[in-house]
Amino acid sequence: MGKLAAAVSALVVLVGCVVGAALIWGGDGATLGSPIDPSGSASSSGSSSSSPSPDRSPADEPAYDAALSKPVEDSYYPAHGDPGVDTLHYGLDLTWQPGPQTLSGTATIALRAAASADRLRLALLDALTVSRVVIDGESTKWTQRHDRLQVLEPMKAGSRHVLEVTYAGKPAPVPAPTTRSDFSTTGMEITDDGEIWTMQEPFGAYTWYPVNDQPADKALYDFTIRVPRPMVGVANGELRSRRVVDGQTVTSWHLGHPAASYLTTIAVGDFVQTKDESPSGVPLSYWTHRGDARALAALRVTPRIMAWNERHLGRYPFDSLGILIVDSQSGMETQSMITLGDTDYTRSPEVIEHELTHQWYGDLVTPTDWRDVWMNEGLTMFVQGAYEADRDGVGIDTVMDRWAVSEPAMRAESGPPGAYDKGEFGEGNIYYGPALMWNELRHRLGDTAFWSMVRAWPTVHADGNATRRQYLDWVEKRTGLELTSFFDDWLMGRRTPPRHAG
Ligand SMILES: [Zn+2]
Repeated sequence: MGKLAAAVSALVVLVGCVVGAALIWGGDGATLGSPIDPSGSASSSGSSSSSPSPDRSPADEPAYDAALSKPVEDSYYPAHGDPGVDTLHYGLDLTWQPGPQTLSGTATIALRAAASADRLRLALLDALTVSRVVIDGESTKWTQRHDRLQVLEPMKAGSRHVLEVTYAGKPAPVPAPTTRSDFSTTGMEITDDGEIWTMQEPFGAYTWYPVNDQPADKALYDFTIRVPRPMVGVANGELRSRRVVDGQTVTSWHLGHPAASYLTTIAVGDFVQTKDESPSGVPLSYWTHRGDARALAALRVTPRIMAWNERHLGRYPFDSLGILIVDSQSGMETQSMITLGDTDYTRSPEVIEHELTHQWYGDLVTPTDWRDVWMNEGLTMFVQGAYEADRDGVGIDTVMDRWAVSEPAMRAESGPPGAYDKGEFGEGNIYYGPALMWNELRHRLGDTAFWSMVRAWPTVHADGNATRRQYLDWVEKRTGLELTSFFDDWLMGRRTPPRHAG
C-alpha cells in the first residue's frame, strides 16, 4: 500500500492506499482471446464472444498461463476472495458518464476453476447492477447480493471459461479496515468535478468491476475507457491507443504482467500526459491535471529516483512506468502506474521512491495472504530510509534510530507486524518494525551480501506470490543463518526486540 507519510520527526503517518471513485463501464464486450494481442488492439470487439469450440476455450490462450495462480482463502479478509477461482485475464470495457455519475461496461474475464463447485463467485458492489451474464458464449443465470455475484453454472476443477458480465451503476467506496489518517474508505471515488479515481488496498476493486478480490489471485488486464472529452481515462500498464470517437476520448491500456486486484488503478479526469525517460531507458509518463504545474515539477525527479532504485534493487521489472496524480491524501503502488494524491507529501521524492520500490516488493512479488503485508512495507520502508540517508548525507542508522523512537508505540497500538489487528490495516507497525528488522540483518550480513539478497528475492517469485514461510526459509538458506527466533521476535513480538545496530 501506499506508505507511511512520515511526518517530521519520528512520528509517522501512513500514506496508504485509498479510496475509490466512481466509474462507469460501458461499451461493448471485450472479447477474450484478443486482449493480450501485442498489437494493442485490446479488447473491444463486438458483444459477446467468441464462438466456443468444444475442445478449446478462448481462456486456453497460452499467454494467459502467465497468470496461473494458486488462490488460497485469505486469513485476514476471507470474505473478499474465493480460492475456488483463478482469474487469468480481465478485459474491462468501461464508460464513465460524469453527469449522471454512471459507470457502465462489460468485464470479460478468462478464468480457471481452481476447485469443483456448483457456482462461480466473484465480488461486485451491489450498486453496480448486472444486466447480463454470458459464460462460454451462452447466457446464464446469476444472483447478485451482499456485494457478491454468483454465476449459477457448475465448475469442474481445472476447467477454463470465459465470463462476460455487463453492468452499470454509481460506484462508491466502501469502509477500509483501518484507522489511518489519510484514508478511511477503499475503492472508487467520485470527485465534485465528476472525475473518478481509485485506491483499493487491501480490497475494493469490486467497487468498479467483478473480481476475485484477493492478493493470491493475479491476472493480466486490458482496459478500454470511454469518457467525454476533454477527459481521458488512465489505467495500469501501457497506453496502446488513444482516439476520439463521437466526442468521447477512448483509451486502451495493456498490463502485460500479472497483477493482484489491489494493484489495479483507473482514473478519469482532464489529465495531460508528459513523457519522460529514465537514464536506463524505461519509458516514463506523468499524468497530471491540466495546468497543475506544481505536480508536474514534482514528478520531474522520477528519472533520478529510478536510477537510484535500479542501482540498489536491480533493473526495473516492468516495461514502463507512469505516475498518476489524483485527488487523494494518500499514495499507492499501483502496478506500473503509481497513483499519488496531490499533496506536498504525496508528491515528495521519498513517497515517489517508496511507491517505486513497491514495484519490486509488493507488485512483482506479492504476499499470498494479507497477514503478511509487512513483506511489502518493511523492506520498502527500509529502502526508503536508505534513500533518505543517501540524499541527506547521513548513515542509514541515523534514519533508523529516528524511526525507532516511535516504533514501540505503534507495535503496542496495532499489534505485532506479523499479526496486526485486523481492523488496523496499514498502520505504522507493519512499516517501521520490519524496516528496523532488516537493518539489523544488514548489520549481521554486511552491506554487500545484504543488498545482493534484497535484489535477488523479487526475482525468485517474479510475477507471482509468496508466503511468509517461503520468504523466511529463503532468507535463511541464502544467508546461512539460523534466524527463527530473530524473525519471530521482530514479527510476532509484542515488544520491540533489542537493537544492536545504531
Ligand atoms: Zn508502502
